[in-house]
Amino acid sequence: MNRQTKTFLMNRFREMGISPATRHGQNFLIDLNLHRVIIDAADLTEQDVVLEIGTGTGALTTLMAEKAAGVVTVEIDGHLFELASEQLIDFPHVTMLHQDALKNKNNFDSRVLEAIGEKLAEYPDRRLKLVANLPYNIATPVLSNLLLCEHVPHSMVATIQKELGDRIVAQPWSKDYGALSVWMQAQAEAEIVRLMPPTVFWPMPKVESAIVRIVVDPAKRSTIPDLRFFHQFVKAIFIHRRKFLRANVVAALKHHLSKAEVDEILAEMQLSDEARTEQLDVSTLMRLTELVRSRAP
Ligand code: SAM
Repeated sequence: MNRQTKTFLMNRFREMGISPATRHGQNFLIDLNLHRVIIDAADLTEQDVVLEIGTGTGALTTLMAEKAAGVVTVEIDGHLFELASEQLIDFPHVTMLHQDALKNKNNFDSRVLEAIGEKLAEYPDRRLKLVANLPYNIATPVLSNLLLCEHVPHSMVATIQKELGDRIVAQPWSKDYGALSVWMQAQAEAEIVRLMPPTVFWPMPKVESAIVRIVVDPAKRSTIPDLRFFHQFVKAIFIHRRKFLRANVVAALKHHLSKAEVDEILAEMQLSDEARTEQLDVSTLMRLTELVRSRAP
């Protein structure tokens, strides 16, 4: 395997007459030890099928392919797809897709989902894991929406903007606590594995990054009867998270519940009129969602 150092990448890009595309979040990880940290954090074995969004030049993909039963990797950029195809030629269990991974910001492209389904059918009883150095502009939809897909991942280990990592693990009352924190923590254990300075990438991004590990907890998930409703409702009430909860719930359900009905629900939960959305912990929000859902037509 080629060691994809900064010099290697710069030379290869020069030969191909291309340069990294900022619009696609092309910041390649050039600290090869950190490739290992990501692979180790994902704890990949023959029991796993991996989904990678953003093949890039295939450096991380190669390490995944050496450990996992199968890999599906998706790359939007034709030049990089070509480069990675050379890199991955000896790994027939890697399915490479050249396309946008997302159909829109709320949905994966169906061809990606089909490829995952086929790979899991080819390697039955394996666990699906997302492992990726994600392009920053699609990191939130990728991590959020994978939890709504038919094949829910066992875990997700990803390099993301530090600020996004802070939001995922944030606790009530903190400035980073929001719908994403609730969505993740309601169904998974999330932690920041490592912080990364801009210098470990080429070209350097303007922000700090973090490796996050999100391990899905099926028992937690099973306590949420309607995940889509939970996702939408939490997003809606956190739009103005510093406002009073009552006003947020009324606005979120204005076509479904009257103010009086919202007041009844809040009274049943012993939540005062002064309660603010940002102070509610995950389990309180899960109970609130269920009460609302059972009354909303
Ligand atoms: N995996 C490589 C690495 O670790 O160095 C590349 C990571 S780079 C941060 C992100 C990669 O995602 C780029 O190769 C970029 O072209 C690709 N990408 C960006 N948007 C994408 C999308 N919507 N669908 C698929 N790939 C995308």
